[in-house]
Amino acid sequence: MIVSENLKTLSSIFKSNGFSLYLVGGAVRDYLLKKPGHDFDFTTDARPEEIKKMFRHTIDTGIKHGTVTVLFKGGSYEITTFRTESDYSDSRHPDSVTFVRSLSEDLKRRDFTINAFACDLSNGEIIDEHGGFDDLKNGVIRAIGNPRERFKEDALRIMRAARFSSKLGFSIEEETKKAMKELSPTITKVSEERIREELFRLIDSPFPRLGLETMEETGLMEIILPDLYKCKAIEGEGYHKENLLEHHILALESAERLKAPLTVKIASLLHDIGKVKTERWNGQKFTYYSHEIIGSEMAASIMSRLKSSNKDRDDVALLIREHMIQYSPSWSDGAIRRMIVRVGKENLENLFILRECDRNATLALPESFNDDALKERINKELSSSPVLTLKDLKVNGKDLSDITGKGPLTGKVLKALLEMVIDTPSLNDKELLLEKATELVDKETSGIN
Ligand code: ATP
Ligand code: MG
Repeated sequence: MIVSENLKTLSSIFKSNGFSLYLVGGAVRDYLLKKPGHDFDFTTDARPEEIKKMFRHTIDTGIKHGTVTVLFKGGSYEITTFRTESDYSDSRHPDSVTFVRSLSEDLKRRDFTINAFACDLSNGEIIDEHGGFDDLKNGVIRAIGNPRERFKEDALRIMRAARFSSKLGFSIEEETKKAMKELSPTITKVSEERIREELFRLIDSPFPRLGLETMEETGLMEIILPDLYKCKAIEGEGYHKENLLEHHILALESAERLKAPLTVKIASLLHDIGKVKTERWNGQKFTYYSHEIIGSEMAASIMSRLKSSNKDRDDVALLIREHMIQYSPSWSDGAIRRMIVRVGKENLENLFILRECDRNATLALPESFNDDALKERINKELSSSPVLTLKDLKVNGKDLSDITGKGPLTGKVLKALLEMVIDTPSLNDKELLLEKATELVDKETSGIN
C-alpha cells in the first residue's frame, strides 16, 4: 500500500518509541477494492497513555475503548489500542475490553475476513491473517473463525453481514449464512439505534437488493421490518411486477440509480406497506383504499421504533402520504397552490423522485402518474411568488388583535385567511383581509350564541 509522507512520519514516531502503527478495517479493504474515500481507523500496541505521551495534541475520543485522536501536522488520526473483547454474555456488549500487545489478537476479534486487514505503516505491507485476500477476490463475506460463536458474541454482526453484501455486492459464505439464519432471532438483543445504523446503511448502498434478500432469507426482515416482510404475500396482479416486496425492492433500486437521498430511499422501500392492512376483495379484484395514509402512519411508527430523527421520520411519512397524488389538468391554480402548501415546497423534488421510482417499478400506471404536466403547473405557480405561508399574508396577529382579541381565535382566523388567499391571491390586501377577519369573527361568535 502506498503510504503518505505524513503517515510515514507518524508511524516513525511510534517506531522510535518502540511501538507499531497500522491502518485497519474498511480503509484497507476499500483500498484493495480501489474504492476511494474512507474514514481511517488506526491501531497500535501502544496504550492510550503511551500515545498521549508521544504527542502534544491529543483528544480522548473513546478512552474507555482505547481510542485517542492524535492531531498531527494538520491531520487528525483516530488510533485505538489493540484489544480483545472478552465474554459477551448478552450478544451485545463485551463484558470487558482488554488491551493486548499483539496485532493478531486484535484482528481475530473483528467481524469478517475482508474487514480484518492491517497495513503496517512503516513499510506499507498488508497483513492478512484470515484469508481476506481470497474472499475479497471472490466477493465473499465470511465470518472470522466460528461464525456461530462470532454472532453469539455480537448479534449486530448478523445485520452487518447483510449490510456489507449491500455495500460491496458480495455473497455470503454458506456456513456464515447458516449461522445467520440460526441466530437471527437474537438480533432483538441489540439496541434499535445500532440496528438502524446498519439498516439505513444497507438501504443506502449500491446493491440494496442483496442486503434485503439476505435479510429476508435469514429471518432478519421478519423481525426488524415485519410489515415489509408481509408484502411478500401481496401479489402484483399485473400491476406491480411480481409481489409487493419485489415492487418495493425495484423502487429502491431505482432510487439508488437516481442517487436519491436516504429518506427517499426509505420511502421507496416502504411506500406501499399500507396495502398490507387495507387489502379488501370487492368481488372482482383486491382494492387498497387509503393505503398511502395507513402506510404513512406505519412508516412513521417504524421510524420511531428505530429511533430515527423526528425530521427523517416526518419526511418519510410525508412522502408516503403524498405519493398517490393523481393530477388532472382540470385542477385549478388554487388546487395546485394548496398542493404545494400541503407537501411543502422543499419536499416537492423528493416527492417527484419517489413517484419516478414507483413508476419505474411498475408495469403500468395511469396517465395521472406522469408528473411532467404537474411539474409545469407548479413551476408556473412558484414563479409568481404566491402566498404560501402566514409570513406572506398582508396581516399578522397584531393587526387582528382588535378584531379577534388575544386568544386562540387569532390563530384560527389567520389560518382561514391564509386558505382564502391561497385560493384567491387578489384577497391579499390589508383592508380586505381585515374586513374578512371581522366577518369570520362575527360568524364564529354568532355560531356560539
Ligand atoms: P464502512 O466503510 O462501511 O464504514 P467499515 O469496515 O469501516 O466499513 P465500520 O462499521 O466503520 O465498517 O467498522 C470499522 C471496522 O471495525 C470494521 O472493518 C471491523 O473490522 C470492525 N468492526 C466494526 N464493528 C464490528 C463488530 N460489531 N464486530 C466486530 N468487528 C467490528
Ligand atoms: Mg467505517
